[in-house]
Amino acid sequence: MKITKIEAVYPTYQETLRAWRPNLWQIILKIHTDKKDIFGYGTGGGGQASIEIINGHFRDFILNKEINNISDIGLLFDKLFFESIPYGRGGIALMALSAIDLAIWDAFSKYNNVPIKNLLSESNFHNKNINTYATGNNVKQYYSLGLKNFKLSVRSEGNFEKESKEIINLIGSIKKNYNVEKIMLDCYMSWSREYTKFMSKNLSDLEIEWIEDISTPDEMLVNESLLSELGEIKLAGGEHDFNFNNFKIMHQKNIYDIWQPDITWCGGISSILKIIEINSNKFKIILHRGGEPWGLPIIEAGIVNNMAELHDPKSIHLDFEQWHNETIETIENGILKTKEYLGFGVNPKKGLFNE
Ligand SMILES: [Mg+2]
Repeated sequence: MKITKIEAVYPTYQETLRAWRPNLWQIILKIHTDKKDIFGYGTGGGGQASIEIINGHFRDFILNKEINNISDIGLLFDKLFFESIPYGRGGIALMALSAIDLAIWDAFSKYNNVPIKNLLSESNFHNKNINTYATGNNVKQYYSLGLKNFKLSVRSEGNFEKESKEIINLIGSIKKNYNVEKIMLDCYMSWSREYTKFMSKNLSDLEIEWIEDISTPDEMLVNESLLSELGEIKLAGGEHDFNFNNFKIMHQKNIYDIWQPDITWCGGISSILKIIEINSNKFKIILHRGGEPWGLPIIEAGIVNNMAELHDPKSIHLDFEQWHNETIETIENGILKTKEYLGFGVNPKKGLFNE
């Protein structure tokens, strides 16, 4: 397979994008190949800044490139990672690299008529029933879709004493009103280490599945592990770690029980494969936004934990503003079944590229 052309766009989103996202959210990348009707589509964060990196630098290494097997995709990832070291090693450079890596996997799967899950593992390892959880605080809506596992945002404003009571009351009322299986908490890097220890005692009877992103990635990586001080409570993190080498530190220092790399930010499948190798089955890997089309083949392949995150789901079809999502067969009682598809099973909506 030869890559003959690259196009990248930053779509106009109608949905409300908060905090850093409005100008830096997901781009859409299209690569053309030497087969007329075979295109690869990828996505990654970083908005126009990401497109600048692709058009201003990465493009030179990709155009006319021959990709004959999946190790060629991995070698191209290594090349782009190396070439972007002066301005990269993380952040938007890796978001841009994610879009490229995913577009190439998408094209390669279609070009060779082999589903990505089959490129990643033998079919006897494949998951047919995928477990899900919903992220967000609109539990009533998620429960009406049949979902049973919920991750609540509990970002702190700094008043730990007041907030700790509110969190315990919130979990109590959700458990009372709904037939819940698992509850997780996401702190968005706002809890202190002392508060986390305090909360681990207070939450111990409530059977919380994990607490996510208690502090910044840097605080977590440079300090000693907290895991042995939290009793049964498990820590999750990694969605803001884009450099696979950070996962080596996590591994050595036992930083988290559960790793949560984001495939559209940390460098695509090629980076996830490195992270899986670094992990060597020591910790769970639960992909950030894993229920999106770019995570599903990895979960289906059985090479990460069988748990798909659905971010604020509004219907069981998991619609996207910019994509036709052809991956979902059904979601019933929280179990997701996929269709058979090539690539990531998505096509950008009409009008994004000059077709
Ligand atoms: Mg999170």
